[in-house]
Amino acid sequence: MLVLVLNCGSSSVKFQLIQTSPEAIEAGTEKKLARGNIEKIGMTTAIVSFQAEGKPPVKETPVILEHRVAIERVLTLLTDPQVGILKSRNEIGAVGHRVVHGGEKFSKSQVITEEVYRQIVECCELAPLHNPHNVRGYEIAHELLPDVPHVAVFDTAFHQTMPEYAYIYGLPMVVYRRHGIRRYGFHGTSHRYLTWRMQKLLNKPASEFNLITCHLGNGCSITAVERGKSVDTSMGFTPLEGLIMGTRSGDLDPAVVLHIMAKEELTLHEANTMLNKHSGLIGVSGVSNDMRELVKESQKGNKAARLAIDLFCYRLKKYIAAYYGVLNGADALAFTGGIGENSPLIRSLSCAGLDCIGIQIDPERNEKLNGSEGRISPDDGKVGVYIVPTDEEMMIARDTVHAVAGKL
Ligand code: AMP
Repeated sequence: MLVLVLNCGSSSVKFQLIQTSPEAIEAGTEKKLARGNIEKIGMTTAIVSFQAEGKPPVKETPVILEHRVAIERVLTLLTDPQVGILKSRNEIGAVGHRVVHGGEKFSKSQVITEEVYRQIVECCELAPLHNPHNVRGYEIAHELLPDVPHVAVFDTAFHQTMPEYAYIYGLPMVVYRRHGIRRYGFHGTSHRYLTWRMQKLLNKPASEFNLITCHLGNGCSITAVERGKSVDTSMGFTPLEGLIMGTRSGDLDPAVVLHIMAKEELTLHEANTMLNKHSGLIGVSGVSNDMRELVKESQKGNKAARLAIDLFCYRLKKYIAAYYGVLNGADALAFTGGIGENSPLIRSLSCAGLDCIGIQIDPERNEKLNGSEGRISPDDGKVGVYIVPTDEEMMIARDTVHAVAGKL
């Protein structure tokens, strides 16, 4: 089956066309036939990049003011005789949609029926910056491809197995009951992919090992996976909680926010922007939210860049040690995301001093294996430390196939 994977954000549409089936998933023979990205929708010019297998790459800057035009462009590119890979859009067998928030309603991916659609729309209240764009993407894609199943794959679903004591905040219970204020966790599709992949690397089913997964990209989160199930994760009601990220603060004394709002006379919107867009690595360093830049600057002696790196790694190390305790011991620790996959420095700094719990990194393997999948701890290391490049789109395509076959 050809699955179109769609990830619609506020000003972007990312997409991949993946050939897969239950047999191909089993055999590991799934194939990516095309991928692309439309960014800056609604701005003066959009940026379209696209490449189909064996065809020349496309880079264009048309005016695209609306998501409908963007998704129509996706279908036009896929079926273009010169650069595309399909004869007709009818070859697409199903569409998998990334949906950020599934609230407490969805603990696994779902074929989007009228009822499921209504419930996803209800979840917009919990993720007003994300879900409305995911919903819009579905509405348009459903209109353009009305005869194929559409499947929603939720970022929050994997974490629905967290126990109550891990997801309830120490707040009056009324805010949970009335407003759904609790920890949900995000990046679930990536943490789930890592868990699936670690089965191959450890050569045993997920039900036989405990794992700590670190997704370190622009957004960062860490998950404690007990025998295949998420039992705790660092992001909370929103993706702001937990680790220090590119532009997000991560954990913070909530009183700080109230104090700054009063002192600086910030509006809700301004406070939200400060915490989500001007904090984290960019806030501390004043240099960049990009870890590559920070590493370069720090090597040149920039103290603020070094401090941002140290804060990032120290916070991560605390979470790794905490989750080791939560799990009563972990068999493996896996790194993914732009930083987790590509930065030997960050991996080594965040694991430094954790040999007390059996976490060690082999410096040579850490440098050599950078960017590719494999073990970076010594052979006799108690906890296996791994790099596992994530593939959320592949996970969405798989779920789509399984949901359509009624096998989720
Ligand atoms: P992602 O959101 O997964 O694309 O990750 C983006 C982050 O990965 C940015 O902070 C990049 O600076 C970081 N990144 C990518 N390559 C490297 C690298 N070689 N070293 C350090 N950070 C990197």
